[in-house]
Amino acid sequence: MQPGDNPLNWETMAVYDAATEDSVDPLLSKNFRLSEFTTSETAARLGISMDLSVEDPAYLNLINLCVDILQPLRDRLRKPLIITSGYRPKKLNKAIGGSKHSQHIQGLAADFIVPNMKPIDVAQKIIDMDLPFDQLIHEFGRWVHVSIPQIRSQRRSQSMTAIKNKTLIGYTTEYLPGIQPVA
Ligand SMILES: [Zn+2]
Repeated sequence: MQPGDNPLNWETMAVYDAATEDSVDPLLSKNFRLSEFTTSETAARLGISMDLSVEDPAYLNLINLCVDILQPLRDRLRKPLIITSGYRPKKLNKAIGGSKHSQHIQGLAADFIVPNMKPIDVAQKIIDMDLPFDQLIHEFGRWVHVSIPQIRSQRRSQSMTAIKNKTLIGYTTEYLPGIQPVA
């Protein structure tokens, strides 16, 4: 767009350009953009669409997840949160072996790490800050899973630690109560 192309003044054009940019990868909160929750190597490899329209309830859920939990945590830590798994269309969730009722499918959950912080310390911070999570899982000592409740649903306030157990037929996942160290 060039000045003189239209009756808008420069200031309005700046707003327009920002809006145009945001429509490509909108901000969900101050420091989180939609693409951070809709980028998946597995989806790309398998040709699974990660498109999420504003009308999809999962879109609003992602905004609430950012506003209620991820943004306040980021503000307190003053460190970036790296989202390793956010929104998962059913096909993607199935492909990666996610639980059938995973809250990732509805955009209610995110897995993330914070560079230079142990996941257990990040999870503990979420508890210390009294953030309104539905489920908080310290996953295998490797990352943090956090979710918000479905709109109009009761908050479970569950915190757990996932560990792997070796069995004769392979590995199984066990959930221990609370946020604990993983051996
Ligand atoms: Zn997760």
